[in-house]
Amino acid sequence: MNTRKNATQKILSFLQSQEKFLLLTGTYQFQKHVLALTIIFQNYPPPATILFRVNHLDNAISFLSPVLNLRKRPKPGIPIEVDSYSLYVDSMNPKTWWSSPLDVDIAVVYPIDSLDYDSGDNCVQDLIRRKTKKILLVSCNDDVDFGWVEQFNPVHVVFDAEEEKPDYHKKVLEMWKSKPLRGTGIDVSKLPKYARSTPERYLVKIFCRNCKCVRWAKLNAPYPGRTALRNAPMGKYTATCLVCGYVATDNYNWFR
Ligand SMILES: [Zn+2]
Repeated sequence: MNTRKNATQKILSFLQSQEKFLLLTGTYQFQKHVLALTIIFQNYPPPATILFRVNHLDNAISFLSPVLNLRKRPKPGIPIEVDSYSLYVDSMNPKTWWSSPLDVDIAVVYPIDSLDYDSGDNCVQDLIRRKTKKILLVSCNDDVDFGWVEQFNPVHVVFDAEEEKPDYHKKVLEMWKSKPLRGTGIDVSKLPKYARSTPERYLVKIFCRNCKCVRWAKLNAPYPGRTALRNAPMGKYTATCLVCGYVATDNYNWFR
């Protein structure tokens, strides 16, 4: 069972390890980021710069209030001092990033279900540029394709409500099952007919040399995320034009 105790132990050992990325999912909604932040404030060696990156700045106060006693809405660029920690808050909107420190020790991104393949990749690349030592990617809802996270080889920790609230756990799982998968970064309603029967995870846009235009193509593996695709050696990925069957190998040119 993915209990609080198990999740706590795994997050703690992640903090003490050489690993850089952690993916935290599970049915205990609104508790996962609380657990992660609480463990960080109790165990990460101070002094440290912590960055909390939220989907909308308006949510920051309610997301943080179970952990910290906040009176005012946090502002980007102005740290909240908590003992020997400086806590910065910004959002998943890149326009807020200019205000965040250039060096971050540890970042918590929440909820990552607000990100998709491209915005998720962008967000993590920004944290890497800030030399962030530990990056925790935390979900609220898991009815989303988190395939883009796999390129970072995260330690995956699951925190379910099963032990503490079994009925709630069941309800959340049913709710997720009843909805189509989100977060692939593709607007299905805008896909041309020829691409609709291909599973979204395999779709990528290429410049087809045969059709002489941009076409949707099918990858030979699930879309690994933009950075992984651009950095892959020639030949690892191929993409087949869904109109003419031309097989492309110029993976550094593809996008979604
Ligand atoms: Zn073609």
